[in-house]
Amino acid sequence: MKYCASCKCGNVEVSVNFPHPIEKYQPRECNCDFCLANGLAYLSDPNGTLSLTAKDPMKRLKQGSLQATFWQCPHCMDIVAVTHANNNKTRGAVSKQLFEAKYRIPPSIRVSPKKLSPTEKLIRWNTAWSTVIDT
Ligand SMILES: [Zn+2]
Repeated sequence: MKYCASCKCGNVEVSVNFPHPIEKYQPRECNCDFCLANGLAYLSDPNGTLSLTAKDPMKRLKQGSLQATFWQCPHCMDIVAVTHANNNKTRGAVSKQLFEAKYRIPPSIRVSPKKLSPTEKLIRWNTAWSTVIDT
């Protein structure tokens, strides 16, 4: 099922294609300093896809273990998604805030990826995150 949302100012469009209705997904709230400071939580399905389209190029932020890239709108500063590229395949998760404005998203669950080793993080992302496709 396809869902679209955009950042506050509309510069970035995010679309996801999930096997289940988006109302069924519990966002994962990361408790690292960066995500807490920005109030971020993420939605993804390992069998789903996501794509990002920006009129003006997004900022790429590296945080924590530097393995993941956070995508930020240069105008409204919304963080729209987080991605990781591995073996020519990019996986990612979208920020729940964008979708919360339009859809009924369940309460977030707290996860603690900072306790994971870099290898464990990769395994987590590969089993939880969606495939990023170019538009
Ligand atoms: Zn924006």
